[in-house]
Amino acid sequence: MSESIIQDIQHKLNNKEVSCVQLVQEKIDALNASTKNANNSILAESALKQAADFDKQLASGKQLSGLEGIPFGVKDVYLLKGTISTASSNILKNYKSPYTATAIQKLIDAGAIPVSKENCDQFGHGSTNENSIFGTTKNAFDDSKVAGGSSGGSAVNVAQKNTVFSIGGDTGGSIRQPAGYNNVFGFKPTYGRVSRYGLMAYTSSSDCVGPFAETVKDIATTLNVMSGKDGKDQTSVESTSIDVNAFSKDIPAGTKVGVYKTFINHPSLDPSIKKEFHVLIEKLKDSGVTVKELDFFDGDTLTATYYIIALAETASNLSRIDGIAYGNRAMDKDSLASTYLDTRSEGFSEESKRRIIAGNQVLSVGYSDEIYKKALTVRKGIEAKFVKDFNEVDFILSPTAPSLPPTIGQSLKDPLTMYLSDMYTVGFSLGGLPTLSAPFEVANNVQITAAKGKDEEILRFAYAIEQSL
Ligand code: GLN
Repeated sequence: MSESIIQDIQHKLNNKEVSCVQLVQEKIDALNASTKNANNSILAESALKQAADFDKQLASGKQLSGLEGIPFGVKDVYLLKGTISTASSNILKNYKSPYTATAIQKLIDAGAIPVSKENCDQFGHGSTNENSIFGTTKNAFDDSKVAGGSSGGSAVNVAQKNTVFSIGGDTGGSIRQPAGYNNVFGFKPTYGRVSRYGLMAYTSSSDCVGPFAETVKDIATTLNVMSGKDGKDQTSVESTSIDVNAFSKDIPAGTKVGVYKTFINHPSLDPSIKKEFHVLIEKLKDSGVTVKELDFFDGDTLTATYYIIALAETASNLSRIDGIAYGNRAMDKDSLASTYLDTRSEGFSEESKRRIIAGNQVLSVGYSDEIYKKALTVRKGIEAKFVKDFNEVDFILSPTAPSLPPTIGQSLKDPLTMYLSDMYTVGFSLGGLPTLSAPFEVANNVQITAAKGKDEEILRFAYAIEQSL
């Protein structure tokens, strides 16, 4: 396996083995031919134009570097000027991006070429990519199974090699879980490392921008470009660039890993995943890693806490999408109230309406003390526990999801089970921690998590595992 698909492709471009137009045309053809329903719009014209510019530069003797000439995909919740940004929703199906999201602009400025706006669950609401007006995205390896969600299209495009990397969004697992279901790398950085400006807000206190790629080095390279403080997002933070060339193939001596007992002993964990997870842990022990079992909140508490906060914030964030400020308006109505009502009834899916209603409920007088404020207190407890745990270990390893990808249609009948399938990912989101979903040993990936700001440490460790195990 190559260490960096980005570098391999750039090498070919620089050696004139392939032109940038040919490369982009190949990707566009593959995206058009894909039967996975992973793309909401394909950006052929603009992408081919950018590619032709790079071919001119190559013809004049310039060598490409960084991300120059590399085709990538963008989850359809990011604004990208010149494209429609739908969030896979009816209400925004004609919404023209007025500007470009900071993270995406940085990639474009670095020379990467956006080729697709990718299918996802509506406004990030979901774990299966079935909540989309464009239909369900199918798993890269099995048409009868879901791609996972919410960033399903992005994961499938990378797994099918139709994009070199893709940018997803992760609020409670939406990068890590579809990465797991499609066996690619997916990284949720420390909260704030990448600006959220231009990402449609779901849960502002845990929304993160992150990449999908086929190798650890490509995750690090794309993360480096997107990271940094942004005056347009007050929660964004400064970070140091990761030195990808200094990655070592050896697992550092003295590495300590923690495993949460509540996670691996949960009754809904599929026995095959549990077994594979155990095999990975044993391999790490053989490589000199110390493994410690730790106590933690149970999956049900984590899921309940996350969903209370997520639904409250999404009810608040989506209130602006009312057909007046944003979105398609139901026009032929005689009163303002019925305009709002009809616009939002027709514009949002069942799942998104369920979330808006529940979110408003937990915020309302009589319920907010009992439910919403209690969830905020539990969140503080979760954060404090992470601080304690990362004084004892360097990384926490856990499965990404308790079960293999469900069959298409199964989760729509049972949303509560779908919410519970997020139990391994949501806790790390509430803590704002960096976490990588990696295709090591376990059928639907393993999560490697570290303390806030330790994104580089995770990627170094993952590189060593990728290269040595
Ligand atoms: N599946 C989770 C949810 O529906 C996470 C989604 C996400 O990270 N956007 O909320």
